[in-house]
Amino acid sequence: MERTFKATLQSFKELVHKIKYYNEALAVLFWDLRTGAPKKGIAGRAKVIGMLSTEAFRLSTSIEMEDFLNYFEQKESNEKLDKVYRAVVQECRKEFDRSKKIPAEMYTEYVILTSEAESVWEEAKNTNNFSMFSPYLEKIVDYNCRFIELWGYEGNKYNTLLDYYEPGMTVDKLDRIFEQLRERIVPLVQQIKNLRYQPDDSMFFRNYFAPAKQEEFSLAILDKMGYSFDAGRLDESEHPFTIGMTPGDIRITTHYYPHNFSSALFSSIHEGGHALYEQNISCELDDTPLSTGTSMGIHESQSRFWENIIGRSYNFWSCYYEDLQKIFPEEFMGVSLEEFHKAINKVEPSLIRVEADEVTYNLHVMIRYEIEKALINKEVQVAALPRIWNEKMKEYLGVEPKDEKEGVLQDVHWSGGSFGYFPSYTLGNIYSAQIYNTIRKQFDDFDELIKAGELIKIKEWLGQNIHKHGKLLTPAEILKSVTGEEINPSYLIDYLENKYKKIYNLNI
Ligand code: ZN
Repeated sequence: MERTFKATLQSFKELVHKIKYYNEALAVLFWDLRTGAPKKGIAGRAKVIGMLSTEAFRLSTSIEMEDFLNYFEQKESNEKLDKVYRAVVQECRKEFDRSKKIPAEMYTEYVILTSEAESVWEEAKNTNNFSMFSPYLEKIVDYNCRFIELWGYEGNKYNTLLDYYEPGMTVDKLDRIFEQLRERIVPLVQQIKNLRYQPDDSMFFRNYFAPAKQEEFSLAILDKMGYSFDAGRLDESEHPFTIGMTPGDIRITTHYYPHNFSSALFSSIHEGGHALYEQNISCELDDTPLSTGTSMGIHESQSRFWENIIGRSYNFWSCYYEDLQKIFPEEFMGVSLEEFHKAINKVEPSLIRVEADEVTYNLHVMIRYEIEKALINKEVQVAALPRIWNEKMKEYLGVEPKDEKEGVLQDVHWSGGSFGYFPSYTLGNIYSAQIYNTIRKQFDDFDELIKAGELIKIKEWLGQNIHKHGKLLTPAEILKSVTGEEINPSYLIDYLENKYKKIYNLNI
């Protein structure tokens, strides 16, 4: 019996590793596709991606896998597993049940569709032509609706998609969270908007910021954060992203705009936050599906923590502003640290989500959340999206896009079929403020630590408390073990009110 268990476990591990290796190969192909693969190679590459994904899909839904899961779920064999492989069995079961309900040919068609759709989206965005992308988007929505029917759902159909990115999240909970945010953030935005004083950030746009110098500074900050360049690299792509193969190879991208200083830098810090998470997952989870972030929301909490809470703080820049001025002496000539800090925190209802400030950001997410809910519940048509988008922008943010490029076509997510993903950004903001509240208490003087540029200590704390666990703990378990609480949006609201009342001299 003992021999059978050992031999079976060995074969199961081989299968788990094989699936992981296919996924790693796919990640390299996706990275290549997005960072400069020649246009004429895209269609051919899509076929290779389709074939490899089908193979990984076939393995994770095979009879062999089902037999292993049935065997290791039996009490006697389950008890002999270590905690990692007990969690691997659970994870494989989840994936098996989810995938098994989708016919293999349907899945292949979908993978090919989405990888083609991404380059069509890119061209549609560049040429400002939604009608070029809309036939693809219609098909992608249609596939998702069919998937939900096959997977099943409880309550709202959108719940199934939400749960995939943030286990346990539902439309009901999210509606309440957005309600709480709306109650206090909308008046905050309004109060700031009505002020005569607004920070001057014109130096970010009127000067020419050479991309090579921007890259130099991004690389330096990533290094200070503890991002390992022996286990990653920074490249340029249309839309910044992080892609992970193993903790030893976690790559990030950014996009340099010569006449917009802050975009590339804060994208680099943001993606760096994601990458730190993946680089510091415990090696005991290597080659398993647990060697990744536990949910998109917790992932976003890491990127947002570094980008906003650390990267846009006064203390951070009191350490690094001089270094920045050395790289761009003329561009920042006569700009004081105080002025610079206010400029990077300017609150302004704007059109582009990735450029949005911390205060208005969640309103951008709310728009996408409402549109996705309506699309999945077949309450709106894809063709009507440019109009609906513009109406909602006007309603929540008081601004209206002049074209589709800065409106409905701005985000890559829908071309990849990632419905249910956007709310992760707001969940990430909420978690990051909760984590910040905790981490401040863990150090004698947190502010001094940041002023001294000792970011490695922060990275290590996050590594020990969050990163190392990978997917071994659920998002709720991580949050509870770190903060002692469940999700609670009031920390984010308090953080925003405290920070911005100082910057804008408000009476709250
Ligand atoms: Zn992110």
